[in-house]
Amino acid sequence: MLILGCPGSGKGTLSARVEKHFGIPIINAGDVLRWHIAHETDIGRQARDVIHNGQLMPDSIMMQLIGEKAISMGDHDWLLDGFPRTAGQADMLLQALHEQHTPLTLVVNLRVPESIILQRILERWTHIPSGRVYNLSYNPPQRPGLDDVTGEPLEKRDDDNPDTFKLRIDSFHAKTEPMIERLRSERCVYDPSRPLLVDLAGETSNAIWPKLRAAIEERCPHLVK
Ligand code: AMP
Repeated sequence: MLILGCPGSGKGTLSARVEKHFGIPIINAGDVLRWHIAHETDIGRQARDVIHNGQLMPDSIMMQLIGEKAISMGDHDWLLDGFPRTAGQADMLLQALHEQHTPLTLVVNLRVPESIILQRILERWTHIPSGRVYNLSYNPPQRPGLDDVTGEPLEKRDDDNPDTFKLRIDSFHAKTEPMIERLRSERCVYDPSRPLLVDLAGETSNAIWPKLRAAIEERCPHLVK
């Protein structure tokens, strides 16, 4: 499965709920890049500038980092958060999954009004090592400024500021939206009467969660508890 949507649409929050509720492993592209930044690898050095400037990492690097990890999981269920983000990444992923006879089951596209997203991003605090996110208005940490699980300090992401956010939205419109439109024409190979991509709209992750759970239960009956 893939979860798509513009920056701040709640991909991370909703993926974490999917992981907890359905027990599916999540691969989060941004978290993998932030791990590389924290560990000062070559990829991390490149990612630091790219992320700060609201740009995207090269397709081939992302395919190696994220796409191949998913492909190596074979028949197991997984959810990719933040990958693919360009038509090139989607083509590489779909082609590799097709060759392996494990095509995608479901692509979820989160639709959240852009007018409310900047405020959400500004109120977002992150536990960088785990990727856990909090929102000061509707999902605050139990103790101010500290992660609920580890008690470690929360941080502002370097790219969660109005200037970088604008660049991230621009790159979403230029690179990711055309990819979403292309995926919209795909059918689900396990049930060709259904489209592969499902749009889920709402102003909050709490409003979207029941729709997401229902979509997964419908497409993946083996996951229903
Ligand atoms: P995220 O945590 O998903 O918001 O990602 C943070 C940043 O990491 C993005 O704004 C991009 O700069 C970079 N990034 C994450 N995923 C990808 C991807 N699939 N392709 C290129 N760059 C990515």
